[in-house]
Amino acid sequence: MRIGIIGGGIAGLAAAYELEKARAAGQPVEYTLFEARPRLGGSLASEIVEGAVLELGPDSFLTEKPAAAELCRELGLGPELLPSNDAARKTYIVVNNRLVPLPDGLMFLVPTKLLPTALTRLFSLRTKIRMGLELLHPPRAVDGDESVAALVERHYGAEAVDRLADPLLSGIYGGDAAQLSASTVLPRLVEMEKKHGSLTRGMLAAHKRMRAASKTSSKTQNRGAPAIFTALRGGMQQLVNALVARLEPASLWTGTPVSAIEKAGGGWRVSACGSVHDYGALIVASPAWAAAALLAPVDEALGEELAGIPYSSSITVNLVYNEAKIGTLPEGFGFLVPASSGRAMLACTFVHRKFLGRTPPGKAVFRAFLGGAHREALLAESDEALVATVRRELSEILGAKVLSAQIEPEHVRVSRWRRAMAQYAVGHQERMQRIAERIGTLPGLRLVGNAYDGIGIPDCIRLGRLAARELAAKSQGQRDQGNEGPRDRPPSPVYSR
Ligand SMILES: Cc1cc2nc3c(=O)[nH]c(=O)nc-3n(C[C@H](O)[C@H](O)[C@H](O)COP(=O)(O)OP(=O)(O)OC[C@H]3O[C@@H](n4cnc5c(N)ncnc54)[C@H](O)[C@@H]3O)c2cc1C
Repeated sequence: MRIGIIGGGIAGLAAAYELEKARAAGQPVEYTLFEARPRLGGSLASEIVEGAVLELGPDSFLTEKPAAAELCRELGLGPELLPSNDAARKTYIVVNNRLVPLPDGLMFLVPTKLLPTALTRLFSLRTKIRMGLELLHPPRAVDGDESVAALVERHYGAEAVDRLADPLLSGIYGGDAAQLSASTVLPRLVEMEKKHGSLTRGMLAAHKRMRAASKTSSKTQNRGAPAIFTALRGGMQQLVNALVARLEPASLWTGTPVSAIEKAGGGWRVSACGSVHDYGALIVASPAWAAAALLAPVDEALGEELAGIPYSSSITVNLVYNEAKIGTLPEGFGFLVPASSGRAMLACTFVHRKFLGRTPPGKAVFRAFLGGAHREALLAESDEALVATVRRELSEILGAKVLSAQIEPEHVRVSRWRRAMAQYAVGHQERMQRIAERIGTLPGLRLVGNAYDGIGIPDCIRLGRLAARELAAKSQGQRDQGNEGPRDRPPSPVYSR
């Protein structure tokens, strides 16, 4: 079977890799990957400037989701995997221009330790009292999705949304806690509320269970806790390069945007750059808004659902400094900036601290993250204006003695990521269900990428590989049964865990 892949980001590349493996193993599959841009990798891109690894898009992935590290090992990149320097992990929130550390015992958004919560400067006395009283919180009376902001505010008050939920989530989704779906983004907390009422009590109970389980497993395995984040020594581009090296060059059509898709002869017809190509199956790995435009003529309802998935844009600004020219930075990985502060920056990572060995001695690398749901207009600003804004804000937040705006960085790199980050808005699960129903009526079509079941790199890889495996198996089944193979199982889910 010939399979077309539309989009050469990490999800599309992971799908192509899986099809290439199937082809090499003698399964009857061929593939073509269409990528609109001249380069492959989508949001994954790194550069090395005088020995310093600059991540223009993502800098790492969550270790607890295994799909990314597994793929890296399979590609021979095991020795390149680099754990985050968790011994030095400390994150600050900017409150009134001061860096306030996240209190000890905070488990994602849930305070679990009394003393650090009582002593922190992050929250007012009123919020702290509310956090104490949260232990008596009853389970939610109504069912159904709500925003992350609504969930957190019901438990801990508006200040916890402003200083905790919003900055933490905008660092991950470039999104807005008032829009994001609690049941998609924080499913564990939603479950905890159902069972315990209080999120703090739920989290403490979960922590107790985890400690008991890790005591048992450490008796047999004696391993330390894994690092929270994993990077690649040479940057995320290493993963893209390793994948591309395994693929058939003639199957990778860069600079070839797909302009139309239609059903044809029991399969799919793809138009790109003035020519048409027929496939038995299609993996659409473009952002959902691009998939919407392509699929609306095939299935109007599907097109509408895909177009309804919101996206946010972001900007990264990497600044490389001579460390001798700047003052002593506070300990830790960096800081997050609440949207209410009115600043352009949403977050800044001290790159040389977060991952050791990727910055040469004597250099300091700052990676600022800007944009997000409310700051789309920033994308229109010039590189010079964005760099000037970041330098000014860094000086105001860290103090001129540490990093005055007068100190010239040795290198700067600005990267814009337009509509790159899907937002899991309230009702996302129901939308996924409706999309799965439509896909169930369109044999041989799969949707993969960050819009569906996980925004991070590991989930994109998992979905890409899964879709390719399913289609390769179907193709094998067709050959085994003399081309009378099984139809798609209706209704086929667009994603599966
Ligand atoms: C600045 C930034 C920082 C991030 N940080 C992290 C992080 O630290 N850790 C983490 O796990 N995740 C992070 N993410 C999220 C993660 O990088 C993305 O969710 C993931 O890379 C998306 O992969 P994808 O393949 O779904 O989509 P994309 O990378 O967007 O790829 C889609 C591809 O489809 C192509 N395309 C679109 N339309 C067409 C068409 N008509 N024809 C052909 N091709 C088309 C596009 O050109 C693009 O290359 C970050 C994202 C950004 C933007």
